[in-house]
Amino acid sequence: MRTLVRGGWVVGFAEGTHTLVPDGVVAYEDDRIVHVGRRFDGRAEAEIDARGKLVCPGFIDTHVHSGHRASHRLITDSGRPDFFGQPFLDISVPREGTRVGGDPRYARPTDADAEAGTRLLATFTIAEMLRNGITTFMEFGSQLRVQEALLGEVDRLGLRAYLGAGYDSGRWVGDEKGRLKRVVDEAAGVKEFESAMAFIRKVDGTVNGRVRGLLAPREVETCSLDLLRATRKAADELRLPIVTHAAYNIIEFYEIVREHRMTPVELMESVGLLGRDLTVGHGNLVADNGLMSYSGGRDLELMGRYGVTVSHCPVNIARRARSLDSWAKYRAAGINLALGSDTYPRDLIMQMRMASYFGKVMSHNLAAASAAEVFEAATLGGARALGRTDLGRLAPGAKADIVVIDLETRDSLRFGPVRDPIKALVECGIGDDVVTVIVDGVLRMRDRVIPGVDLAAVRRAAQDAGERVWERVQEWDPLERTAERISPWSFPIVRD
Ligand SMILES: [Zn+2]
Repeated sequence: MRTLVRGGWVVGFAEGTHTLVPDGVVAYEDDRIVHVGRRFDGRAEAEIDARGKLVCPGFIDTHVHSGHRASHRLITDSGRPDFFGQPFLDISVPREGTRVGGDPRYARPTDADAEAGTRLLATFTIAEMLRNGITTFMEFGSQLRVQEALLGEVDRLGLRAYLGAGYDSGRWVGDEKGRLKRVVDEAAGVKEFESAMAFIRKVDGTVNGRVRGLLAPREVETCSLDLLRATRKAADELRLPIVTHAAYNIIEFYEIVREHRMTPVELMESVGLLGRDLTVGHGNLVADNGLMSYSGGRDLELMGRYGVTVSHCPVNIARRARSLDSWAKYRAAGINLALGSDTYPRDLIMQMRMASYFGKVMSHNLAAASAAEVFEAATLGGARALGRTDLGRLAPGAKADIVVIDLETRDSLRFGPVRDPIKALVECGIGDDVVTVIVDGVLRMRDRVIPGVDLAAVRRAAQDAGERVWERVQEWDPLERTAERISPWSFPIVRD
């Protein structure tokens, strides 16, 4: 069946770059785009009226940790100074012998509410991305059970997903004084890798080709070198993309330098991990960054030489008083910049704005990280990370992954007068401005309604789940703190 989207502004594609087509049209047949231009003279069985709106390729989120991220609410304006602004340590490192409570990502399958919790987590994740116009995502290493649940919701609700269970050879726990302690279990890592491979073999190419496999060694400092080498071998054999966290954490950087006399990026090069198929989560704390006081750093040059992708998640790191240093230097080095949400909200429009503003500030250059560059990163940058020439663009032959964004936003003056729709989107837009989402040629959200999802009910369930996460912090926090101690209220609570 052929469908015509009659737009206001349409983001087309020619000679390697996005183009702007005023009063344009997009035609797609089944799962493929067949035409983009000022007019379409062919026949179409269906028509979507998007006049006055922006029609553009769906966004690609290159850094998704599934769930409602309730635990992240505990580290707004707070966090342990001895973790150097590394948010996941505050909320994911339990006291030795305990487990992080309340979050189904850490539950045992036998826990009473594990199954319902995992289902909610999957529904929340997929629905939130759809609502925000994200049509493709890369999951960054949740455990196997979570991947299984995501697979079901991706099938039902319609995104394009790169799924792969995370694996590592150990983890951090808190010792009796609350200090970080490394627990190494190489055999468990090998087992986790094998079950991740079995999952990949099972799902790669399924759900009408919308689901692909992904290799996810969770963090470079928690994986053995053998596990990293095995990752490279599997990626080459099965032609799978790889994601990992690296050059993202002060502790990780110096632990690796101390242990290997190499930076995390140099270590990845030494085991053959660098390549066009590698997406590095954050990559902001590289040797070239003055904050690291490292002489003779060449991490940017190395990542650029191999065509590595850096998944930049500006909102999450800005909340921890950090930024990428700097957008312009990364581009000049030849690194592929893509955007990720990492935390809440899963709003790539907001991420684009933060990437642009911080890119300018850190480069001391008002022309750096332009609206065009950050929009490119949220679309074509993600497609390059995945080695896909049929995503991230509206062009004949590309997948029909299309979003419609309302630049007039009913009941709002937020956009004001719109001259350039991409600049307007980056400066004034939010994810909720997305009104319609088409994935693989199928309408998955129309006029802000996602069939099969009651957003209010999902939000209520997430609130209840969040309360349980916050209630139980003292059970596992290495310093035995309550949520109130970890994260004091913004203003005093009035209790009577
Ligand atoms: Zn991450």
